[in-house]
Amino acid sequence: MNTLYKTTFLGLLLLQNAAWASADLPEIIIEQSFSLSSGDTLAEALEEKTPLKGSTLYGAMHALNKKYRLSRLKNGQSFKVSYALPEDSPIIKNISFETPDHHSVSVNMSKDGITASKEKIKLFESKSIAIGSIDSSLYKSAVDAGLPENLIPAFINLFSWDVDFTREIRKGDTFKITYMQMLDSDGKIRDNGPILAAAITARGKPLDAYRFFTGAKYDYFNGKGEALRKSLLRTPLDVVRVTSHYNPRRKHPVLGYTKAHKGTDFGAPRGTPIKASGDGVIERANRYGSFGNYIKIRHTGSYKTAYAHLKGFARGIRAGKRVKQGQIIGYVGTTGRSTGPHLHYEVHKNGRQVNPMKVALPKTRLPKKKLASFKGQVSKMVALWNTEEQKTIQLADQKSAL
Ligand SMILES: [Zn+2]
Repeated sequence: MNTLYKTTFLGLLLLQNAAWASADLPEIIIEQSFSLSSGDTLAEALEEKTPLKGSTLYGAMHALNKKYRLSRLKNGQSFKVSYALPEDSPIIKNISFETPDHHSVSVNMSKDGITASKEKIKLFESKSIAIGSIDSSLYKSAVDAGLPENLIPAFINLFSWDVDFTREIRKGDTFKITYMQMLDSDGKIRDNGPILAAAITARGKPLDAYRFFTGAKYDYFNGKGEALRKSLLRTPLDVVRVTSHYNPRRKHPVLGYTKAHKGTDFGAPRGTPIKASGDGVIERANRYGSFGNYIKIRHTGSYKTAYAHLKGFARGIRAGKRVKQGQIIGYVGTTGRSTGPHLHYEVHKNGRQVNPMKVALPKTRLPKKKLASFKGQVSKMVALWNTEEQKTIQLADQKSAL
């Protein structure tokens, strides 16, 4: 007969009371849960927190390590261990843990030997919806509406092409978000995301986004089937403060006379990373007269972008090199004819400079043959929102009737 003590404390007390430790007494099994503190290996933690030690412990570690490299375990990782106390040297029965990528890893030890296993935890997809309106901040309102915090950056990124979240969002603007959750068989949430659909009104302007598989990859499109991601970033810096706008007739701050300013100046601290506005090929990355350190990128279509007065270039950035949108290409500086650290940024369309802040950014559309299945998916998402909103209204009616 096995006596199972869930309470470790009691188990350990019994261990210290040696009188019971005779061969005739029932085997006592102790179950313990603990988590890894920083700097500890699993073996060290077990030695510290349980009476286990010696070769059985290392045998178990060896078997586990074959299933999951134990050096990958992170601070805070939780474990379950059970062991028997037949004599003064306890015997491991089982050690188990769950990996961040939803596998269950365990080792069982018995008279017959050691067996370790790694199995995928069965997860179920479930759609959840967060609907709300903005009160004090978008962040707080989204959390209040039930959106998991880890999805908020993704939600903001979706619309960052079309909305300036620091200025264009105000109290009363609304949002709807459908996102995926992964549940285990106990109904416990194991994972959040991705966002499947989202809609907001920003200053009354409605915007929407739907996740769709294009045949090559998942991307987000608005209800008309236009990609939300534009082929060029509006601003190639995270720190954005426009210090001088595009102006075909401007008095030059250094030269004094009227000279067109055919780009946008962004004030930013020296060393601020500069991102490639779009996928493309570097046409030049070198010193270029009054522009100082200068990069020009050729994009698809008839667009080019240029970046001037750089402190320096990112590693590997040179003419002929292919870059991805958002890739860091250089750093803000004040080389060339410049009065202080800033990025002078130009967009060229068909060989002519255009206003980077006003140019209509090139759009990517879904291919026609994908449009029907996309629209079908959109209507399903919209129907889900309508049902959810209906429920909320009914609930509010019930409350006010009370
Ligand atoms: Zn400039």
